[in-house]
Amino acid sequence: MSDNHYPVISDPWIVSVRGSKNSVDKRKPYAWLVEKERTVEGKIEDTAIIFLTNSECPFHCLMCDLWKNTTDVPSAAGAIPDQIAWALEQLPEARHLKLYNSGSFFDERAIPESDYKRIASIINHFETVIVESHPRLINEKCLRLRDMIKPDLQVAMGLETIHPEILPLLNKKMTQADFRESVRYLKEHDILSRAFVLLKPPFLSESEGIYWAQRSIDFAFDCEVECCTIIPVRPGNGAMDMLQEQGFFTPPDIHSLETVLEYGIGMNKGRVFADVWDLDLFSGCSKCLDERTNRLIQMNLKQEIVEKVECTCNIRL
Ligand code: SF4
Ligand SMILES: [Zn+2]
Repeated sequence: MSDNHYPVISDPWIVSVRGSKNSVDKRKPYAWLVEKERTVEGKIEDTAIIFLTNSECPFHCLMCDLWKNTTDVPSAAGAIPDQIAWALEQLPEARHLKLYNSGSFFDERAIPESDYKRIASIINHFETVIVESHPRLINEKCLRLRDMIKPDLQVAMGLETIHPEILPLLNKKMTQADFRESVRYLKEHDILSRAFVLLKPPFLSESEGIYWAQRSIDFAFDCEVECCTIIPVRPGNGAMDMLQEQGFFTPPDIHSLETVLEYGIGMNKGRVFADVWDLDLFSGCSKCLDERTNRLIQMNLKQEIVEKVECTCNIRL
């Protein structure tokens, strides 16, 4: 970990260095797509993902850029079910649904509980519904949603990292114990959990980034999450760019993502996925980027280690 002086990481600093938000329509999600994902049962099936437009997350994590597509005001009653219904009309059929909302599904400002009933009526034909939440917002509200919907509910939560000095610096206002307790609570009520694990948060070297992502996956499975998704940390939210300029952050290398995914899959404790969006940000080699991206996608789908990509860029490792 770098021990030079870095900015005081706080809500005011993180917010002060951000750029402006994108212009969003409160009645429409800001993105929607269908992608293949390997299910808990080992089948490869279509999953619809709707990125809901709603009120900004009350947390201001150092590495987060999800605020870009949020509003400054609470979501109006009925807006979220309208968005879901609209997106499903645009998308081909799928068996599973992710409702990602740039924050926490259980945040009342983002998704009013009075909307749950209508949301349930719109999504009841899915087999699985995955929502995301900050671990500290896991409570009886999750159970009320679970009881209202027919699909199995899964909850994705950011563990981020278990590095003892970095986790507090991420300004997530969460401890490892909070994460463990939330997974325990969900499991006690038959709800599966998925952990988001960061690859190479700021202040870490490449090898430390790999090491702590692996330890964080160990911890997540020890808490009995069912699935881990590895997220390479990227610049672009203001704070990360500032830290990059000051030498406290460089984006991880795509080779490191492969290494951590291989490790996670090799554990055989549950599904482990690599986030494969914008992988060009993490590759210094245009020769093998497509092949390497495809390798990661294949490993995500098969949950087995696929033959390595041969390229001259392997030599610098
Ligand atoms: S809790 Fe999640 S959405 Fe909210 S700021 Fe942190 S990373 Fe972003
Ligand atoms: Zn290469």
